[in-house]
Amino acid sequence: MDFDTLRLEVKKCCFCKEKFGFEPHPVFWGEENSKIVQISQAPSSTVHEVLKPFSDASGKILRDWLEVTDEEFYDTKNFFIGAMAHCYPGKSKNGNDKNPPKCCFDRWLKKEIEMVHNKIYVIVGAKAAKAFFGDSPFEELVFNNQELFGKLAIILPHPSPLNRRWLKKHPLFLESRIKEVRKIIRDCIES
Ligand code: SF4
Repeated sequence: MDFDTLRLEVKKCCFCKEKFGFEPHPVFWGEENSKIVQISQAPSSTVHEVLKPFSDASGKILRDWLEVTDEEFYDTKNFFIGAMAHCYPGKSKNGNDKNPPKCCFDRWLKKEIEMVHNKIYVIVGAKAAKAFFGDSPFEELVFNNQELFGKLAIILPHPSPLNRRWLKKHPLFLESRIKEVRKIIRDCIES
């Protein structure tokens, strides 16, 4: 399968329709030569409607953290914006978004990772980090550069406005670690 076929197949995927109880809206953003592969959890309900990843409050915070403009972020030459699942999975009884369906990883994300010739990875949120780094302590992952599939990987806390507690508990993330991350991202975009 080539990359364009993969993109078309993902966009028409409705494998989880019964599980979700509504029509899945797969979000796909990136190209074969994107410099940065970013992987988060799953699209939010806002993104489910507009089909543009991180076009919500979390996205604004993420771009502020990384010091990238909207134009830079949505330029597919820079970012392949992937996720553990391409579709918003709905809400659970407690009102939080459900976990991303596991099948999407094997069905699509694995192939995307194989096909994209990126330079670095940015992994967003503890759930996505766990999928790649198992039970490694999340703080350790965030505060140190990691390696994934032989490439540099940056791990970030989820930028959701609901994640303030983690940031409050780890003030060094915004005081110092994020400056190192910004430099890595800037060097990669301008390379
Ligand atoms: S989450 Fe993945 S596997 Fe499920 S419908 Fe969306 S694209 Fe298909």
